[in-house]
Formats: sequence, structure tokens, C-alpha cells
Amino acid sequence: MIEVKQLHKSFGSNEILKGIDFEVKKGEKIVIIGPSGSGKSTLLRCLNYLERPTSGSVKVEGQYFVEPQNKFSEKHVASLRTEIGMVFQRFNLFPTMTALENVIAAQVKIRKRSKEEARKTAEHYLNKVGLAERMDHYPSQLSGGQQQRVAIARALAMEPKVMLFDEATSALDPELVGEVLKVIRELADEGMTMVLVTHEMKFAEEVGDRIIFMDNGFIVEEGHPKEFFRNPKNERTKAFISQVE
Ligand code: ADP
Ligand code: MG
Repeated sequence: MIEVKQLHKSFGSNEILKGIDFEVKKGEKIVIIGPSGSGKSTLLRCLNYLERPTSGSVKVEGQYFVEPQNKFSEKHVASLRTEIGMVFQRFNLFPTMTALENVIAAQVKIRKRSKEEARKTAEHYLNKVGLAERMDHYPSQLSGGQQQRVAIARALAMEPKVMLFDEATSALDPELVGEVLKVIRELADEGMTMVLVTHEMKFAEEVGDRIIFMDNGFIVEEGHPKEFFRNPKNERTKAFISQVE
């Protein structure tokens, strides 16, 4: 489904991604872990074109998404971006719109759906994340966990091929983490293709089909969750795992 080849990203002379290669199969859940500053967010942002990679390629379902010459126009990039949903640590909801309006907005603007169709889709996905009763609330009237679930519904309403989660629970109070993980787990069980960055190691082990460990702009090790956590091979992976557990 996704094929990433020799992806590089520099900011000025600072090379953050130093040649990333990996594949994601349809329905697969890839969990990326690694120390702060290792390039995890930059990698996800490149996959979603929030950052333009410096070089390398990404194919989604066999079509170039990032092409080797890096010549896609901004307009084309914007249309590609809609195929990939992303959920951030900070929910970034529009404060002056209700939950429902937040989920409708991008569908109308970017997917060019009618208001009516967008509303139906929004209701469906807000219902799915357990917020049927909260659709008319403003973000300030919702808990962090509820706001993050609105953000997930907003991404799902675009009906993306893949969902990226960048530390989706890191900004939440501990008691609110569970409700968001539950929604992500349900999506995983339904077969959504996902790439997740998380610090929740237990969740990573349960949901991940494969774990990728990044350090300093490289993929250092990857493996099946059980094997990866029980029997890490690389010294840096070992050190990281013993630190977070
Ligand atoms: P992680 O998510 O693994 O903590 P990031 O991808 O956020 O790591 O950051 C990796 C490095 O890239 C950091 O040193 C960060 O300062 C740098 N970086 C990220 N975004 C930018 C940017 N827009 N401009 C310059 N440097 C950046
Ligand atoms: Mg990050």
C-alpha cells in the first residue's frame, strides 16, 4: 500500500531524515518509536506532505505520491494530501466551530461535498468515535479526550486510504488516554491501514503488526512486536526500551 524509498529531509544544512526505507501493507499497523528528536514527526509530516521531502520517493497503491524528482505542483500535492489522514498531538480544532462543523468543514472545502452529504458523513463518524451526544458542543466545552476524538472523526470523514497518528495521546491527562486509544484500537480492528508514533509501549505491542525504531534520522531496527520488545538486537533499541519501561 505504501512504499517509502530513500526518503531524505533536511532543514537548511541539518539533515533530519537520512534515507528512510519501509513498506506498509494494506491493513497493516506500523508503530514508530524512538527518542525525542529522532525524526518521527518529520517522517509522518513528509508522508502527508506537510513537509516536502528533500529527496526519495513514496508510492501509495503503486502511484507516486512523492516522486523522485520532487516536481509535483502545490496543487497536486494538496489533492494527494487528502488521501492520507493525520491526527496530531494537539487537536487543532477550529475554536469557533462546533464539533459537527469542525468535521464538516474540510469535507466541503477540500472533498467538495455538498453541505448535506458532509453533515451525514460527519454525524456518522462522530457517532463512531462515541460523540453522538456532543456534536453541537464547541471545543472549549469538550474534554481533551473528546476533542481528540473529534479530530479523529474529522480525519476519518475525508475517507483516507491511510491514517497517521503522531503521539495522539501525549497531550492528554492520563485519565483521558484510554478513551482515545480505544477509538484507535477499534479502527485498527476494522482493518484501517495505520502508521502510529506513540510512547504507549503496551499499546504499541498490542496493536502494532510491526515496530520501527528510529534514531538520529535512520531506521535502526524493525520487527514483530513480541520479538522486538522481548529480544531487541540493536544496542540503542535495548537502551531505549529499558528506559521507557
Ligand atoms: P521527533 O518527532 O522524533 O521528536 P522531529 O521530527 O519532531 O522528531 O524533529 C527532528 C529534528 O528536526 C529536531 O531536531 C527538530 O528540531 C528538527 N525540525 C523539525 N521540524 C523542523 C523545522 N520545521 N525546521 C527546522 N528544524 C526542524
Ligand atoms: Mg514528534
